[in-house]
Amino acid sequence: MSNTILHHSPLSSAEGVKNAIVQKLIFSIGRDPGVASQRDWLNATLLAVRDLVSEGWLKTQRATQSQNCRRVYYLSMEFLMGRTLSNAMLAEGIYDVVREALEQLGLNLEDVIEKEVDPGLGNGGLGRLAACFLDSIATLNYPGMGYGIRYEYGMFRQKIVDGQQVERPDAWLEKGVPWEFIRPTKRYKVEFGGRIYFEGDKCHWVDTSQIVALGYDQIIPGYETNMANSLRLWSAHAGDVFDLTKFNRGDYFAAMERQNSSENVSRVLYPDDSTYAGRELRLRQEYFLVSASLQDILNRHRWEHKTLTNLADKVAIHLNDTHPVLAIPELMRILIDKEEFSWKAAWEITCKVFSYTNHTLMSEALETWPVDMMGAILPRHLQLILEINEHFLESIKSYTEKDPDLIRRVSLIDENDGRKVRMAWLAVVASHKINGVAKLHSDLMVKSIFADFAKIYPERFCNMTNGITPRRWIGVANPGLSTVIDKYIGKSWRKDLSHLEQLKQYADFPKFMQEVREVKKANKVKLANYIAHNLNIVVNPDALFDVQIKRIHEYKRQHLNLLHIIARYNEILRNPEKDWTPRVFIIAGKAASAYYAAKQIIRLINDVAKVINNDMRVHDKLKLVFIPNYSVSLAQLIIPAADVSEQISLAGTEASGTSNMKFALNGALTVGTLDGANVEILQNVGEDNIFIFGNTVEQVEALRHKGYQPSAYYENDPQLREALQQITSGAFSPEEPGRYQSFSPLSDYYQAFADFRSYVEAQREIDKVYKDQNLWVAKAIQNIVNMSYFSSDRTIKEYADQIWHLQPVKL
Ligand SMILES: *Cc1c(COP(=O)(O)O)cnc(C)c1O
Repeated sequence: MSNTILHHSPLSSAEGVKNAIVQKLIFSIGRDPGVASQRDWLNATLLAVRDLVSEGWLKTQRATQSQNCRRVYYLSMEFLMGRTLSNAMLAEGIYDVVREALEQLGLNLEDVIEKEVDPGLGNGGLGRLAACFLDSIATLNYPGMGYGIRYEYGMFRQKIVDGQQVERPDAWLEKGVPWEFIRPTKRYKVEFGGRIYFEGDKCHWVDTSQIVALGYDQIIPGYETNMANSLRLWSAHAGDVFDLTKFNRGDYFAAMERQNSSENVSRVLYPDDSTYAGRELRLRQEYFLVSASLQDILNRHRWEHKTLTNLADKVAIHLNDTHPVLAIPELMRILIDKEEFSWKAAWEITCKVFSYTNHTLMSEALETWPVDMMGAILPRHLQLILEINEHFLESIKSYTEKDPDLIRRVSLIDENDGRKVRMAWLAVVASHKINGVAKLHSDLMVKSIFADFAKIYPERFCNMTNGITPRRWIGVANPGLSTVIDKYIGKSWRKDLSHLEQLKQYADFPKFMQEVREVKKANKVKLANYIAHNLNIVVNPDALFDVQIKRIHEYKRQHLNLLHIIARYNEILRNPEKDWTPRVFIIAGKAASAYYAAKQIIRLINDVAKVINNDMRVHDKLKLVFIPNYSVSLAQLIIPAADVSEQISLAGTEASGTSNMKFALNGALTVGTLDGANVEILQNVGEDNIFIFGNTVEQVEALRHKGYQPSAYYENDPQLREALQQITSGAFSPEEPGRYQSFSPLSDYYQAFADFRSYVEAQREIDKVYKDQNLWVAKAIQNIVNMSYFSSDRTIKEYADQIWHLQPVKL
């Protein structure tokens, strides 16, 4: 490993870049420039840029090793990275020179960028958070690495056919992934099933079936630092189970059978709402991630330190929700069964290594595994969990003597209906820190689901309010706004978002206000073009763009949005002469494939859109657009074009939200409930610059407590009643009037009816303010300049200081 391999890159001139790209095209892709497609050029460009990032990457590995750094490993079943090319070019400061090089080759950089597939290796916010965190960890020079699964098919590709969601496989690997490095030597055996027996104290796990985890790395470049970290994704391979004898006999199916069933482990991403998932395969996936990652982590540690006794000094492992919690018994198993640590020593190390982020308070979303299922797939792990449980229950004797029911409540095994392992409880018992993702959520967490544990381990619970990376969410997504900000305060805000506060002195400068307005308009025109080309709907870019994009879920209340849209439609028809503020409502998001109510909401959105968009009486005053196949790339297109950000979950249900942050940072005004991070956005932007409505957590609780009566609301609210009657009587589905007869939100578990009136009033206020364009842009600017708290750099600094105890690498 000599330093001389790191020659300086030729990518500083357009000529150099052009040569590098053409070289890649010819020698790595094997294409003649004369016949190359846009995708070939994209891949050649990605390879050329990857070379440049690789230098910093190798330097980072060396520096981390030679400085003997403590590292963080971020374990997550989901990573929603988005496209890599523009982010990497901006990080390396070569965007313009690459654009020029491609121009010389007769290509348009923006068109080439659009050719990159956007891997959908996540469901939503949790996976995108992991991606923003990796970006911040690299940019802040912290030594760290992400571990996940290289699903062959990402989240499905959503198509809308006759108004309904249809799921198509997202075969993202088929077009090639030039950004990744295959790691043929990072190959680990992962075992399942079999049985255990004890020989004295020593446990043996035998007769297992085995598959192989193969590593693929993606480089995560830090912004304007020579640093780069890795995301290592595991792919399942059958190993040597291919049966050549059977194959040669012509018994092709039998020959492939074991191979197929092994490789199923990394085939698809399940919906996070795991109640809808193929349970057993999901358990195997979780163990697959954990087993491969821990072997890799321990290998590296052994190689650097020759021992595992100092593991807790050098390694922090973070669990992104409960999905990777099997890492806890897995580390115990390796330390005890393979490394011959005592139980006590192994437990001490384990508790120092792990930390855990909770992402939901909804008890139905808390992960549990039937004891029988876990016993069949992971017998030793189950046995260790039971042992951990015994030690834990023993350790809290002083509490359980006073409160005997406590045992039932905190036991790692739920005995209530069929025995189940409670993964969140296991995470809490073994982690030295447990955090929520917004102030409100962390407060509720210790009052609700973890109330008992908060009494036992008060020092473990903390809050780390989520953030988003300004590099992707302004830099990549909103080049127009980036240029305006650069002009006034320079470029440093990308690395330190608190610099946005320097913009405050210009907040009422007419020229600055005008520029911010023009950028928003240009972004709206771009989105309007996308909608026209892809959906054949014409929307007016001077209308107010009102946007709700996120997973479709009853708690997020897309149906509340829809009720207001219908009420507005009715009002416009009754008062066509009134001076309506023209609005375009934009909704996007996927529904879990087995989640019937969510799919009905999508269908209803499309049915309502069809009626409204074809009604010439409302014409430009009202449009409703459902944009299919929501993704990071679509978010980058839609968010910079939004005037209003819909964050309307029932108070107490959205742990944090992060799209709320992306919108406000891009100058959209939030209409939202006092839920998740909306509360902190309110505190930062000020109550004059946000539209808050609806019941508070306390009011929601009180209503539940006294027995929530949805009928009371629609009986007293003619507008609400009318909209509901139209839905259920088939006004939007004339071809099938009974389609929404039993429209499920009617039970209104998420109290949409209770918030309807105050929501409509907030929307009226929005109409009024939007009419005064100067006032509107002033409020938008107050959002932009006051959002610096929500940089994921701030979040990651807090994690690094308070949970992981990391120091930056010196480069
Ligand atoms: C930010 C983001 C999310 C999270 O959205 P919420 O509204 O906070 O739930 C989900 N999906 C994608 C693609 C995102 O970029």
